[in-house]
Amino acid sequence: MGHYCRICGRERANEKFSGKGHRIHVCLDCARLPKEERDAVDQEEEIFGYMEQSHISDKNVKRLQILSASENERIAELAAIVLEVAKVKPYKKRRLQVLARERRDLLDDLERTGLIYAHQWEADAESIIGLRGGHWLEDGGQGRPTHEDDCAPDDVGFF
Ligand SMILES: [Zn+2]
Repeated sequence: MGHYCRICGRERANEKFSGKGHRIHVCLDCARLPKEERDAVDQEEEIFGYMEQSHISDKNVKRLQILSASENERIAELAAIVLEVAKVKPYKKRRLQVLARERRDLLDDLERTGLIYAHQWEADAESIIGLRGGHWLEDGGQGRPTHEDDCAPDDVGFF
């Protein structure tokens, strides 16, 4: 049985890990990467984690402000997007619906970066497309997506 490396995401043989590597879940190959590169992997995961939370707290916002100043462009961008999300809708409930109505640009950013999948990891593309179509939002949410879907009405609130 191998061991999981949290940097490359691979299950690798035990001999690919040092003692310390085992503890911190970093394989020998990844341990050789520059520190900034390893940090970026951790930070990206951290930022995606904030999108999974039911609420992005003030403490999270402070942390995101620091990350948004990162020299790593991807990290800085992701942090800036989630910061903006926290400003508009810190609570996860109905977040995508609010963004769809008020901040299409931000919704586009979430899609482009893949952050939207952290928001709702099991989200199927169709429900997102349905949301973006907007035809069931503009009537006050009374209408249903036009495509066949087997979601219970309550599922809408899950956004
Ligand atoms: Zn690795």
